[in-house]
Amino acid sequence: MIQERINFLRKELNKYSYNYYVLDNPLISDFEYDKLYKELEELEKNNPELITPDSPTQRVGGISTGFQEVKHKYRLYSLDNTYSYDELRKWYERITKEFGDNVELVCELKIDGLAIALAYKNGSFIQGATRGDGITGEEITQNLRTIKAIPLKLFENADVEVRGEIYMPKTSFEKLNEENLANNEKPFANPRNAAAGSLRQLDSSITAKRDLSMFTYTPIIERASKQPKTHWDGIQYVKELGFKINPNIRLVNNIEGAIEFCKEWEKKRFDLDYATDGVVIKVNDLSYQNELGYTSRAPKWATAFKFPPEEISTTLRDIELGVGKTGAITPVAVLDPVNLAGSIVSRASLHNFDEIKRLDVRIGDRVLIKKAAEIIPKVIKVCDSPEHANLPVYQVNETCPSCGEKISEIEGEVNLYCLNPKCPAMLKAKLEYWVSKEAMDIDSVGPSVIEKLYNLGLVKAPIDFYKLTIDDFLKLDLVKEKSAANMYNAIQESKNKPLSKFITALSIRNVGKETAELLVNEIGTLENFRNATIEQLSAIDGIGDKIARNVYEYFHNEHNLNVLEEFVKAGFCFENIQSVKSDELGGKTFVLTGTLQTMTRDEAGDIIKSMGGKTSSSVSKKTSFVIAGENPGSKLDKAQDLGVIILNEDEFLKMINYQA
Ligand code: NAD
Repeated sequence: MIQERINFLRKELNKYSYNYYVLDNPLISDFEYDKLYKELEELEKNNPELITPDSPTQRVGGISTGFQEVKHKYRLYSLDNTYSYDELRKWYERITKEFGDNVELVCELKIDGLAIALAYKNGSFIQGATRGDGITGEEITQNLRTIKAIPLKLFENADVEVRGEIYMPKTSFEKLNEENLANNEKPFANPRNAAAGSLRQLDSSITAKRDLSMFTYTPIIERASKQPKTHWDGIQYVKELGFKINPNIRLVNNIEGAIEFCKEWEKKRFDLDYATDGVVIKVNDLSYQNELGYTSRAPKWATAFKFPPEEISTTLRDIELGVGKTGAITPVAVLDPVNLAGSIVSRASLHNFDEIKRLDVRIGDRVLIKKAAEIIPKVIKVCDSPEHANLPVYQVNETCPSCGEKISEIEGEVNLYCLNPKCPAMLKAKLEYWVSKEAMDIDSVGPSVIEKLYNLGLVKAPIDFYKLTIDDFLKLDLVKEKSAANMYNAIQESKNKPLSKFITALSIRNVGKETAELLVNEIGTLENFRNATIEQLSAIDGIGDKIARNVYEYFHNEHNLNVLEEFVKAGFCFENIQSVKSDELGGKTFVLTGTLQTMTRDEAGDIIKSMGGKTSSSVSKKTSFVIAGENPGSKLDKAQDLGVIILNEDEFLKMINYQA
């Protein structure tokens, strides 16, 4: 019975490892893999006579690239890991039993990339290899030479070997995947796979084109001017030698300090431009490390705390259709509830029908879902299973789930649309968007109030909000005088919002907040919107033909023009607000990275735009300034590489004459 389970687990784990390391195509999430692995480890611990040398627990996983093999001078180990703080405390207890209380620890982010070893002789980079099985790896020196974060010559003629993690920044990963999709190539599952795929290129000029970087985390100093006695000093020293180290590192006095670090980064990690899946905690004193030594696959002096999973698999029970503010029909996956990144998830986005076709998602499939930052989870792939082939291929429902009207295709759009202007779901979505933060920002009027106003027939379109009286609000259940007055006043005050918010709120197809701001910056007044030609619109930097056509059509539709007239009659006055804009930052492009103390990045972006500047999400030679807050991402490195001017928060505040 136990032997059978062990055999089963080994077979499964080998299959998953092969897909993960060799094919760069993980079939299950790391969390699920680690769970099966732990189960096997536990069974083997209790039945040591059943351990065999080929068990997955007896070796370090690695990638096979078809490059020449090299034997590592010093073995590269894996790391034990845990998802629980209690287990971290138990690990620490074992250490303090030997060395007494308060053993210093170093906390580092666990970068989710590929481990490599680099050798330097007399300060020159001579060889780089993948981890492989830890004993032998593949020689990829040529490819590694293309990575700018790897120094080819150190600041000292030292002999050292370092280990580090090669990673691809998230923004570069997204760009690469967009390109892959445009070229009908398979997208990479995550930045780690993209980094692996880029490193295993036999043609190093392809690697050179991919945006890869490296953080160094283990120094082995053979001959140099310093011989550090602690891990912390070692890290500071390799930084002096010219290696890139992760700035998010902390020396703590005990495990509670380390747990605090883990808790902090569990949330903050989403602000980084690289993936981290946990925190590595290492005993600081190198003589203690020596005494503690290694198990067959991992050091006893280090352990990894893994963050709650961002990916997990579950069963797709149904595909529900939602109707958006522009009438776009969006498919939503209804799932067996699972715990994902700390919350129970039972619905996930499927984007559009093309995505369903691309993934070949079928009701009943096991699917992998992923959550990134606070964004709603999405289905990223169908897990391989024999059942998939027997499930019926998903067929698109031909009618709108809300009004029953036939769904239509629109040329050049990936979405399908309900074009019935009276579709209740579309009307309600439009009303909800009107009051949203991004649009008119009327936060006292929420979805449940809108539902009631709609059901009573008081509000069918945004203009109706401005016809409501305080008495109308009192007709809604549970609404008392004070909140009725609040809602009424908030709606009236929204008439003074800038034109860009109003244009955003109109729900013109493909025109969101950023596009509306771009348009308003150039066009200026509502009157000019009415008169703009398609050519004038598409001549605006950042506005394509599709958006130009949608905007033009919106302002040439008789019904829309009548409604706009009604807004003006209701007292909307945009023109005055437009003229207060300054042009002090005209022609300057800013990139924001890290956490600012006095405002959010969005607020800083708004200020820049209001002063005539532009913001961008990626650093290039055209960037005028990078504003770096706390814990900046790789954008800061890129700015340094390209020689872009970097401002700290104080310098930025001075530039904009900001008074808190
Ligand atoms: P690991 O990734 O859990 O941890 C060890 C590695 O962490 C090191 O080799 C190094 O590459 C990396 N690392 C990052 N930052 C570090 C730092 N600051 N200090 C030291 N090391 C750092 O272990 P592994 O052996 O590379 O891979 C095993 C893991 O891979 C499993 O736990 C599982 O999560 C995942 N895996 C998943 C699948 C799947 O199908 N999803 C299959 C196989 C393996």
